[in-house]
Amino acid sequence: MKKRPTLALHGGERLRTKPFPQWPPVPTEGERAALLEVLDSGVWGSRDGTRGVEFARRFAERHGVRFGVTVANATLGLFAALRAAGVRRGDEVIIPPYTFVATATAVLLAGAVPVFADIDSDSMLISPESIARRVTPKTSAVMPVHLGGAVADVDAIRAVIPPHVKIIEDAAQALGAALRDRPAGSLGDLAVFSFQSSKNITAGEGGIIVTDDEELHEAAWSVANVGRRRGGGWYEHPRVGWNLRLTEFQSALLIGQLERLDESNARRTRATHHLAALFGEKVPGARILPDPDSTTSHGRYLAVIRFEPAVFGGVTTQSLSEMLRAEGIPASAGYPLLHRDRAIRDEALSISPDAAAQDCPVAEAVCPLTVWLPQNVLLADESDLADITDAFAKIQAALGHTEGDGQP
Ligand SMILES: *Cc1c(COP(=O)(O)O)cnc(C)c1O
Repeated sequence: MKKRPTLALHGGERLRTKPFPQWPPVPTEGERAALLEVLDSGVWGSRDGTRGVEFARRFAERHGVRFGVTVANATLGLFAALRAAGVRRGDEVIIPPYTFVATATAVLLAGAVPVFADIDSDSMLISPESIARRVTPKTSAVMPVHLGGAVADVDAIRAVIPPHVKIIEDAAQALGAALRDRPAGSLGDLAVFSFQSSKNITAGEGGIIVTDDEELHEAAWSVANVGRRRGGGWYEHPRVGWNLRLTEFQSALLIGQLERLDESNARRTRATHHLAALFGEKVPGARILPDPDSTTSHGRYLAVIRFEPAVFGGVTTQSLSEMLRAEGIPASAGYPLLHRDRAIRDEALSISPDAAAQDCPVAEAVCPLTVWLPQNVLLADESDLADITDAFAKIQAALGHTEGDGQP
């Protein structure tokens, strides 16, 4: 009988000691020079700067739309997009429960109530059928989330909602992604991307609102610029707005990062395919979630792994990811489900005392069966990726099948 390995978490030898590629990435000479140029120019804010305008133009163009408004981060970007879309206090905004908390808290910041639609079991993206069941006369927007870089089917969503309901893509994880060859960011009425440290292009913090609609662009720009009118007076504030602006330092960095996006995403895609093949060969009962057919370009923010607990000794995603981290693999158990979040629920009730709670049985069934790997892992060399499946195989050997694997 083969001896079971001792896991690093239980005092055994750590499988991998070498770190995965660092993120944020090592800056290029060009990025370094661009940053210093802003410093020396004395124009650090976006009012008189050219970098913010330049970056917004290039970013919008890359994502298939005419307009972009840079903002301090995507949380505030989602908030501003909701305001620009006409979402008002007490409205309902439909979102998935399996997303970063900011999707929900941006809705709350706009004074609206997040209503949770369930997800699809295979893609883990918000389900259009479930959205259709959540629409009420109070619904003013839907915010699909392109989780991990897989693109929510905005076409199918559009088909099940009333024409006046706006779609705001939470595209924070979908830089360079596409649905049926149309870029994420061009699918809804507005879309918001993030440049926070973990995202596939980053300036430490930052975000952008994009749209192809001139009026929505004006509105979003105004909300992010203290209610000003473009071309209007400095103290002219025709609408209520806030200062949500990005600095020129960040825009200068982002111009450089945007140029690297397609190449680095192509590298992540090759790594994902390689890793999927390794799982197929080496780890029964675990696999990389395949891209949905309609996602013709994937944002590659996460590699989502679905596992069968029974072949890992009945382990939970929390302990599996803890074991993987101890072996030197930076895995995560992923998001807690937001429809169960007490703080969000209390805030929603303070806005609308009769707000209904939603059941999301599919999310509850499949989310505990997933483990994530962050995007920087996918920038590693092919030879390094084998450590990931070796770590899964080691854990499997250590914990064994719960259903009769010949062990006593
Ligand atoms: C990162 C992220 C956000 C928030 O972005 P910030 O720039 O950190 O505010 C919102 N939604 C999703 C899905 C994200 O991944």
